[in-house]
Amino acid sequence: MKPIQMVDTKTQYLKIKGAVDSAIQEVFESAAYINGKAVQDFTHALNNYVGSKHTIPCANGTDALQIAMMALGLQPGDEVITPSFTYIATTEVVALLRLKPVFVEVDAKTFCIDPQSLRQAITPKTKAIVPVHLYGQAAPMEEIMQIAAEHNLYVIEDNAQAIGCDYTFSNGTKKKTGSIGHIGCTSFYPSKNLGAFGDGGAIFTNDDVLAEKMKMIANHGQSKRYYHDVVGCNSRLDAIQAAVLNEKLKHLDAYNDARRNAAAFYNKAFANHPKITTPFVASYSTHVYHQYTILLNGVDRDALVNYLAEQKIPSMIYYPVPGHKQKMFEAFGLDQYHLETTDWLTERVISLPIHTELDEEQLTHISSTILNFLK
Ligand SMILES: *Cc1c(COP(=O)(O)O)cnc(C)c1O
Repeated sequence: MKPIQMVDTKTQYLKIKGAVDSAIQEVFESAAYINGKAVQDFTHALNNYVGSKHTIPCANGTDALQIAMMALGLQPGDEVITPSFTYIATTEVVALLRLKPVFVEVDAKTFCIDPQSLRQAITPKTKAIVPVHLYGQAAPMEEIMQIAAEHNLYVIEDNAQAIGCDYTFSNGTKKKTGSIGHIGCTSFYPSKNLGAFGDGGAIFTNDDVLAEKMKMIANHGQSKRYYHDVVGCNSRLDAIQAAVLNEKLKHLDAYNDARRNAAAFYNKAFANHPKITTPFVASYSTHVYHQYTILLNGVDRDALVNYLAEQKIPSMIYYPVPGHKQKMFEAFGLDQYHLETTDWLTERVISLPIHTELDEEQLTHISSTILNFLK
């Protein structure tokens, strides 16, 4: 059996090595290392894929979120609502920009922002909401956009884990996540569903004014060369990464299918097990399984993690400490938060290996080892 990894980007690369290598070679030979054809081609292809009006490439997913928030013209102390149960980047940029992060609950089944908790957190200072499509499934965007419209708030989707996910509205309209909010942000970190060979990110919007602003902000606030109208930053998608991504984008749907197949295998193996809750898929969303995360019921999680490690099966806890318990946010009055569902999930989740290259032998080994431990 091949060694089991949380992600196997190497085997994935070897299958498309020829195309990727020659795309990289082309960048070398073109000497267009910054914002050249490779970046333009990928940006265009990604824009079409996501179905957004504008796509702005940038250096990574965290920058994408930062640039999005910078473009909204928020004032220090303005409140931005995010789920507590997410990766740190979602909330860190809020604090970095001297805005106030406000943590809300997630739904215990979908792990995504809970609309009711969101409604309760809105104050006159609230300016934006950042729903996260956690683990590869969409947050309930229709309801979130409705709440945002009622209160005149911006919605920035954190789509770092869900590129390729489809959202179905109640009238039957389908959209890709990232193209639904006022702004969508994504990451091409190597282990993401569309992963580069280094860092990368992108921002989506259907708003012409925001698009222009975000392009400027990502490029030193420059309106034309050496004329800087607003304070910005330097955040570019590297041309070599764009060349790699342009090749990999062609396979993204197949990659997400492969992840879904692996998830289906696990689901079947763990079906109706009293100690395992398999991922719930909401009726409005597809799932692209950036993570395959189960809930353990009455199981010593540390013991399971150790047992798996002994059998050379990696596993991860995403995330062991929720935002409202992170020291970095101490100044924001964390004592006021009582997020029971988030705390409950934090203690029970475990993510199993999931990627495009898992074979049946590996999946059988992983699932039977877990079932054996739970006996
Ligand atoms: C990966 C990730 C990010 C940040 O992306 P980087 O490219 O690593 O900066 C932001 N939010 C979520 C939910 C992520 O998973």
